[in-house]
Amino acid sequence: MSPAAPLRDRHRAVMPSWLALYYDEPLELTHGEGRHVWDASGKRYLDFFGGILTTMTAHALPEVTKAVSEQAGRILHTSTLYLDRHMVELAERVASLSGIPDARVFFTTSGTEANDAALLLATTYRGSNQILAMRNSYHGRSFSTVGVTGNTSWSPTSLSPLQTLYVHGGVRGRGPYAHLDDRRFIEACAADLEDMLGQAHGTVAALIAEPVQGVGGFTAPPDGLYAAFREVLERHGILWITDEVQTGWGRTGDHLWGWQAHAASGPPDLLTFAKGIGNGMSIGGVVARADVMNCLEANSISTFGGSPVTMAAGLANLTYLIEHDLQGNARRVGGLLLERLRAIGAGLTVVHEVRGRGLMAGVELAGRDGSPSPRAAARTLEHARELGLLIGKGGREGNTLRVAPPMTLTVAEAEEGAAILEEALRRAQQDLA
Ligand code: PLP
Repeated sequence: MSPAAPLRDRHRAVMPSWLALYYDEPLELTHGEGRHVWDASGKRYLDFFGGILTTMTAHALPEVTKAVSEQAGRILHTSTLYLDRHMVELAERVASLSGIPDARVFFTTSGTEANDAALLLATTYRGSNQILAMRNSYHGRSFSTVGVTGNTSWSPTSLSPLQTLYVHGGVRGRGPYAHLDDRRFIEACAADLEDMLGQAHGTVAALIAEPVQGVGGFTAPPDGLYAAFREVLERHGILWITDEVQTGWGRTGDHLWGWQAHAASGPPDLLTFAKGIGNGMSIGGVVARADVMNCLEANSISTFGGSPVTMAAGLANLTYLIEHDLQGNARRVGGLLLERLRAIGAGLTVVHEVRGRGLMAGVELAGRDGSPSPRAAARTLEHARELGLLIGKGGREGNTLRVAPPMTLTVAEAEEGAAILEEALRRAQQDLA
């Protein structure tokens, strides 16, 4: 197609049909600063989706930009065949923050690849390709990770190399246990897990779970669910993989990791991370107990995993996050934002539920008959965009708005974004009338 054709048409002509794009007229973003981004026409937006939870601290954070440009000026790439000071230092910091004793860290370039590595480790360690995963989950787009993704709208094939058993519990408000209080809900899900394991053929390798489901619509089970699961898993020798791709680095406010809301029975065996740590640079990784990480006998490398520029960015970004207590900011500003969104939701019929933790707020939308409304979500995104606010969407039916701004969000910005979102929701509600 001619270079003079609109970028949207050139994109459609050359990219896969299944590559998700937001908006009727997709946006081209050209630069960002702090919590704001600008499109090619110069219009400014408040970014309430932080890229896609990738801009963890802020757009164009000077500390990260400086680390990247200094490293880029020295050497762009070497590979894991050589020592790299930034990589070792970031691995040391991630290992000690992970809560996993005697931890080892392997860097990848994405969350998918991190989960893929975790699944390879767990299945090899246990000598089994049976995996437990949560209904409505999302773990990536590779052949193995779509095989443990419980949200079928993001899982294009059932021809997985893994045998997956799907467990109840990742979504509090759905399924046969929805009417139970938190304690009984946890008991019922753990009993269901035990029952399922009683029926499984032979060894099960691991449970993989997001502490708060991300693509699934920011749904969190009651605190303690995974502690109850862990107790069952340990009796069967099954490993626990916590997928912290969205929940890591303090975004949930109360804890650095989502698993810590379920900490009663100790840390997981494996933890995966990605998205925010590089503030937009491609870093993913898996942390595992030494005996699990070292169970592979063949040689391996990662050509681009842990490349020097990304590692320098990750170190600068993590240092900023910790020195500025952005987890505390996620708790404080995220708490205020959730409260404000709940108040807005109470006044609008289109809002079915507002939920979340820290700076992960989900706003589930329904039509006039109370059924899930993906159209309301699509319309809200369009109106918000017009009004200068970017948000995400997800959920099993695509009817949940996802709010996950950079973790430096100020109270004033939270209020500004909430006011815009209220207006966008009001207009979407009118569209449905
Ligand atoms: N795991 C979770 C929980 C995610 O939300 C995602 C991406 O959205 C992934 C894994 C896959 O990460 P990536 O898109 O970096 O491959």
